[in-house]
Amino acid sequence: MKNRTFDVVIVGGGISGSALTFLLSKYTDVGSIAMLEKYGSLAPLNSHARSNSQTLHCGDIETNYSLEKAKLVKQQANMLVHYAASLENNDFLFKFPKMILAVGEDECARLEKRHEEFAEAFPYMELWDAERIAEVEPAVALIDGKPRPEKIIASGCTDEYSAVNYGNLAKSFINSARNATNKEIHISLSCEVERIQKFDDHYELSTPQGTFIAKFVVVSAGAHSLLLANQLGHGMDMSILPMAGSFYYIPKMLNGKVYTMQNDKLPFAALHGDPDLIEMSKTRLGPTALVLPKLERYTGGTYWDFWRSLKLDFKVLKVFWDLMKDSTIRNYIFRNFAFEIPKLRQKLFAKDVQKIIPSVKPEDLEYAAGIGGLRPQVIDKTSMQLKLGEASIVPENESLIFNMTPSPGATTCLGNAYRDAQIIADRLGINLNRQAVIDELLGGNDIPK
Ligand SMILES: Cc1cc2nc3c(=O)[nH]c(=O)nc-3n(C[C@H](O)[C@H](O)[C@H](O)COP(=O)(O)OP(=O)(O)OC[C@H]3O[C@@H](n4cnc5c(N)ncnc54)[C@H](O)[C@@H]3O)c2cc1C
Repeated sequence: MKNRTFDVVIVGGGISGSALTFLLSKYTDVGSIAMLEKYGSLAPLNSHARSNSQTLHCGDIETNYSLEKAKLVKQQANMLVHYAASLENNDFLFKFPKMILAVGEDECARLEKRHEEFAEAFPYMELWDAERIAEVEPAVALIDGKPRPEKIIASGCTDEYSAVNYGNLAKSFINSARNATNKEIHISLSCEVERIQKFDDHYELSTPQGTFIAKFVVVSAGAHSLLLANQLGHGMDMSILPMAGSFYYIPKMLNGKVYTMQNDKLPFAALHGDPDLIEMSKTRLGPTALVLPKLERYTGGTYWDFWRSLKLDFKVLKVFWDLMKDSTIRNYIFRNFAFEIPKLRQKLFAKDVQKIIPSVKPEDLEYAAGIGGLRPQVIDKTSMQLKLGEASIVPENESLIFNMTPSPGATTCLGNAYRDAQIIADRLGINLNRQAVIDELLGGNDIPK
């Protein structure tokens, strides 16, 4: 099979790889881009609508974000809204009501404080009492038509974009990239990159479809990115902890997204209820958080890849020990294991769901088989800490980037692509039309460095 040479080769055809393909094709003068995807379709794994919560994370209902993080995520989320607005129509961006729900005196006091603190950044959010909540989401506020007993308030809105089918968005990015003028855009599906080798002035990527040659390589291969980095001697101070997320279905009882208040001690986002863009007759609840010893959910194998990317040693064990010695986290981990055990799981999960919809009974819950994905959480072995957000490896004096993108990596795909495009432009000496990105995708304000 003959060699093919490209300016930039992107490994991984999820939302991250597709967003970068689009941004490079439209806003830089790069000559040629190849995107190589292991499976036979675009966004087959975590970016598929069945795998994630389909939320456009704007920072308004995510009580696990600081104000600073919420502002940044809002700006990145808005890039998707601006992108959608540039198209005649789209099949990926949707408006549903959304709210943070507080239950009980303590949570209500915390939410009121947060609402005030975040008001300047999110002026469209309103503080709702039980009556108003009942108008927007009757199943949350009422049991058999009567108010639920606990005090509830919510911070919410009804006319903002809140849901994204990221699989459809990935396809839209690739269509838009192909429409960009005089660029060579090559997409290879069923094309697993088995090895990346470094040469003096280029990289060679071995795949079943032959060797691809690149001046710059970006690896956005989800949980697999670290393994490819390790092959080249990078990211040896990191491990991947794959956190699977499962969901449960009930018949449609919510009109929009209902997020709950975060327990600050817990590393993963609190339970929420959402409409399901691919199953609109149902309400989806979740995700759970379960450590799985594999790098992909619902595909065969990748157990060995997990062990190779975990690189179990004293430092990794220390991170596990620190997590397990906290009783709140320990209980949470055991509870999430139990959420996977048939029969027991409905009963246990119903208790958590009743915080959102008090009338739900265990028998209403259906384990959503085949739904859910895997968050590649990074363990930083130097600081011996579990990192909660996204992580990248950008080796100095190399033309390489490796991205690991747990939540909110789908929301921030264009923000991440913009960041990567600046590095690529600098190192390849090509032009990035930053002003056009700022005007067209960022509403006139650049992302602060
Ligand atoms: C339960 C759950 C809920 C979530 N909810 C949200 C949410 O509501 N909002 C949000 O913004 N984010 C959410 N996320 C996170 C979001 O799904 C991810 O951040 C996002 O999908 C990551 O996209 P990606 O393209 O980086 O990775 P992926 O979608 O995992 O894509 C990586 C691609 O690389 C390919 N690949 C791997 N190895 C190779 C190789 N060697 N050669 C070629 N290709 C390869 C894979 O096949 C895959 O297609 C959620 C995640 C989970 C698990």
